[in-house]
Amino acid sequence: MAYQKKRAIFVDDKPLFVIMTLDNMLNFTVGPVMSSDAVRAVGGQQVPYFRTAEFSATMLENERLMLRFAKAPQGSRAVFITGSGTASMEAVVMNLFSDRDKVIVVNGGSFGHRFVQLLDIHRVPFAEIKLEMGRQLRSEQLAPYEGQDYTGFLVNLDETSTGVLYDIQLISDFCRRNGLFLAVDSISSFLADPFDMAALGVDVMITGSQKALACPPGISVVVMAPRAVARANASECRTMYLNLRDALKNGERGQTPFTPAVGTLRQIHARLKEIERAGGVEKENERAARLAADFRQKIKGLPLEIVSESLSNAVTPLHPLHGSAYDIFLKLKDEYGIWICPNGGDMAEKVFRVGHLGALTPEDNTTLVEALSAVL
Ligand SMILES: *Cc1c(COP(=O)(O)O)cnc(C)c1O
Repeated sequence: MAYQKKRAIFVDDKPLFVIMTLDNMLNFTVGPVMSSDAVRAVGGQQVPYFRTAEFSATMLENERLMLRFAKAPQGSRAVFITGSGTASMEAVVMNLFSDRDKVIVVNGGSFGHRFVQLLDIHRVPFAEIKLEMGRQLRSEQLAPYEGQDYTGFLVNLDETSTGVLYDIQLISDFCRRNGLFLAVDSISSFLADPFDMAALGVDVMITGSQKALACPPGISVVVMAPRAVARANASECRTMYLNLRDALKNGERGQTPFTPAVGTLRQIHARLKEIERAGGVEKENERAARLAADFRQKIKGLPLEIVSESLSNAVTPLHPLHGSAYDIFLKLKDEYGIWICPNGGDMAEKVFRVGHLGALTPEDNTTLVEALSAVL
């Protein structure tokens, strides 16, 4: 238990309370992930009042950089929702679809299932393409939906629960051919994998603060191409907090309808500026690709099997050939201070995931692989 020490927080030389220290933590989960020094420094500051010209300027720059990094087409907008990724998934389903739609949804794991639940709750008619764990979506599975009366398509670009990166070109071509409105949950893939909203004709893209943006959780982002902006403005959906039309209107002056997670938005600003200075989204994609490839190279020879047909740079899903995946997660956490990502449900014993998001280095990969070798 050497890595999870308890330490008191002192105020005026008196212990105030006791917390677990996380100083030596190495975090390979898929979120929250490790933040850069700049992002952490902003986190240590006081949180300012936000109805100011200064905060508006921060927010306008956040929107500008999000649009640039998503390669959103001319006339697109990005809004920042206070709430984790699921809040923006729900906002998209509620505001951009209605009972007059008929959508196709890809369900290859727990995040695809979440879209199915949201469509159900909000009474949007849908057809579900269910995939077996770890499987890529293929054109044969889209063929039955060709030339029908569908209006939209919902997909999680990287189904993070299984680590499958779907073939977005295949989906984009299908949607173009059939005139479908395409909504992509890119929450774990954004910044990790190449993505070009304009070239792919994606109408709306969702991401969240705690994945490759490598900030604390609490903010999710909806990037809307002009067709999505028009839908949001024409929507008759009944919601106050998740109303995208209100978010768009307030965003014009760099504001939000209600008090947002101001501190996290300032951290997102630091992170976006960091990516810009390091050469932009392409450089960040390359960094993630190198880190993922380095890890996959280093585990060759270990009794681990990769269980996805199509990998994202964000995460590697692994099946240990001996022993329980969940026990390996616990051992690494408690004995080595290294966190990997356990799977839930019936996969808990069989699969764990190693994330490649956030402030990690090839040296960190080596540390993990050495610990994994010992544990296995
Ligand atoms: C993390 C994630 C989400 C959002 O989950 P929250 O816990 O609400 O942040 C949604 N979709 C995908 C693909 C994700 O990886």
